[in-house]
Amino acid sequence: MNAPVDSSPVNLLGMPRTELEAWFTDRGEKTFRARQLMQWVYRRSVLDPGAMTDLSLALRESLDRDVALGLPQVREHRESADGTVKWLLEMGHGQDVEMVFIPEEKRGTLCVSSQVGCAMDCPFCATGRQGFNRNLSAAEIIGQVILAIRELGGTGEDSPVSNVVFMGMGEPLANFKEVVKACDLLTDDLGLGISRRRVTVSTSGLVPQIQRLAELSNVALAISLHAANDKLRDELVPINRRHNIAELLDACWDYADRTNSKQVTFEYIMLDGVNDQPRQARELASLLVGRPAKVNLIPFNPVPGTPYERSPGATVDAFRKVLMDKGVITITRRPRGNDIDAACGQLAGNLDNRISAPLGAKTMHTGHRA
Ligand code: SAH
Ligand code: SF4
Repeated sequence: MNAPVDSSPVNLLGMPRTELEAWFTDRGEKTFRARQLMQWVYRRSVLDPGAMTDLSLALRESLDRDVALGLPQVREHRESADGTVKWLLEMGHGQDVEMVFIPEEKRGTLCVSSQVGCAMDCPFCATGRQGFNRNLSAAEIIGQVILAIRELGGTGEDSPVSNVVFMGMGEPLANFKEVVKACDLLTDDLGLGISRRRVTVSTSGLVPQIQRLAELSNVALAISLHAANDKLRDELVPINRRHNIAELLDACWDYADRTNSKQVTFEYIMLDGVNDQPRQARELASLLVGRPAKVNLIPFNPVPGTPYERSPGATVDAFRKVLMDKGVITITRRPRGNDIDAACGQLAGNLDNRISAPLGAKTMHTGHRA
């Protein structure tokens, strides 16, 4: 017997609803098959076609033969003393990314990666130090979410993950197409059904992609600002040399307007003596006051080999007070998962010394899980 010309399985994971419907109709199946499959995969977190009992036996068998619905493989799984969980995921060819779950009283936030490494070269960031390797596919992005839900003992319908943030490894808007598909599946009722306000894309400031995102999606937007003038931002966030602060903020206000969003979040890492002085708070306030903006002050998580240090708590408090007094909503982010290097900017998969260092964290699980 001859083997089929192309016998590699098609990955149906990561296909938005319309694409999946087209895939079924091309095979002579009814479009509602897409709906059934999505319900199994995203709502019930079942990935084995054999277990999809409302599909005909013949269809189950052909799916079993022809399609892939694979999740990323877990290489290591660690839990912090504060309940934060970090997974190191294998993406093939020795490439790893990290994913972090942060449980809070009223929500569970999953921080996903969009690329292996990052090309944006921000000098304070562990991922940036690692350089760029490759983009993740929509299947690998949405696969992280399904995997986390399953690892945490839930299903899409009864999910411990209420919020998803693209704040893991990578610059999501540099992997635009796949990230938009993943956002589509995160927010689709037949996908994970998460409210669009609870899905956040964080970007260092790729202006043309922010404009395109407003056309294709309406998820929440976060900007890694970190500086209130171009001279300093050129240094801290090098993409600023291509799209300066004025251009970036215009794109943000336009995004909020077009997507009917209450606000854009501005992330601001507090770097001791670099960007944390009261005059810099006033400069920041003047950019944001009266705008649909919220500031998130982030304690810097030290990255070996960088010259930066964390601002003292009193400096952060004073900075926040200036902003608040000027009428800019400002919150200070509490560091989470520090003991397992799971905090923002400490995500640098494939650095074995990070994951294996004895940091007082308990290793929950090592190896693969289907
Ligand atoms: N590339 C995107 C999303 C991933 S980075 C972006 O830059 O927005 C997610 C957040 O972590 C960003 O706000 C980033 O600036 C921040 N971050 C990076 N390195 C950090 C560090 N060492 N300490 C604290 N936050 C850091
Ligand atoms: Fe990339 Fe974001 Fe890190 Fe900058 S902060 S290097 S954009 S991951």
